[in-house]
Amino acid sequence: TPGPELLGVADLVAGYGAEPVLHGIGLQVRQGEMVALLGANGAGKSTLMRTLAGLHPSQSGAMHIDGNTIEGRPAEAVVGLGLVLVPEGRQVFPELSVLDNLRLGGFLHQAGREARVEEMLDRFPRLRERLHQRAGLLSGGEQQMLAVARGLMSRPRVLLLDEPSLGLAPKVIAELFASLDRLRAEDMTILLVDQMAGLALALADRAYVLESGRVVAQGTSAEIAADDALANAYLHA
Ligand code: ATP
Repeated sequence: TPGPELLGVADLVAGYGAEPVLHGIGLQVRQGEMVALLGANGAGKSTLMRTLAGLHPSQSGAMHIDGNTIEGRPAEAVVGLGLVLVPEGRQVFPELSVLDNLRLGGFLHQAGREARVEEMLDRFPRLRERLHQRAGLLSGGEQQMLAVARGLMSRPRVLLLDEPSLGLAPKVIAELFASLDRLRAEDMTILLVDQMAGLALALADRAYVLESGRVVAQGTSAEIAADDALANAYLHA
């Protein structure tokens, strides 16, 4: 059962230049919840994730994690508060080894870092096999697992995942979602954007639907899946 609210967004307006992309977003994620964010291309999902992570300024509204204000802080400070984004496009450091990618992810917690690396290698055994290889030589699925593992290295309280399955083969997607399911079972709090909306909903407790920078629907995953209009728009596309 989910705990108290951990991540909160209210009336969030953000965009590029004068024209906002997000027109007053409100959402809440409770401790231990997995929440899916659905919406067509261009709805503003990545903009919301990047704004939450401190990578993009907000114009107005409020964001907080565990009572701490997010807006106005640089991205490293947001990571320090426990909000970690695994961005779209598997952004690993291609020239660095898998091990060094993981170590970089743990820069905030030098003390327990090597033990944490071991934990990640237990969690993603494929990464152990590739530990000393350059990350750029990994398969797409392995790079995505490394990106998630690197995010986990900084001990997030809330993990933001932007399109983790993009461009991966179905078998690899199944493996990735199995690891997300395990995180969920461990009570990690997760906000997930993924174009595999059916899979995302199957895993998530609740979902928000974004359309043109506004929340147009929200509910439990079962409620969203049972809504014919939403299911037609986002699940069978
Ligand atoms: P996608 O799945 O295609 O990434 P999305 O829901 O994540 O869609 P965003 O990437 O947040 O949507 O884009 C929302 C809007 O903001 C789009 O109209 C997009 O063209 C615009 N946009 C995104 N990034 C920039 C940028 N760097 N500069 C200007 N406009 C941008």
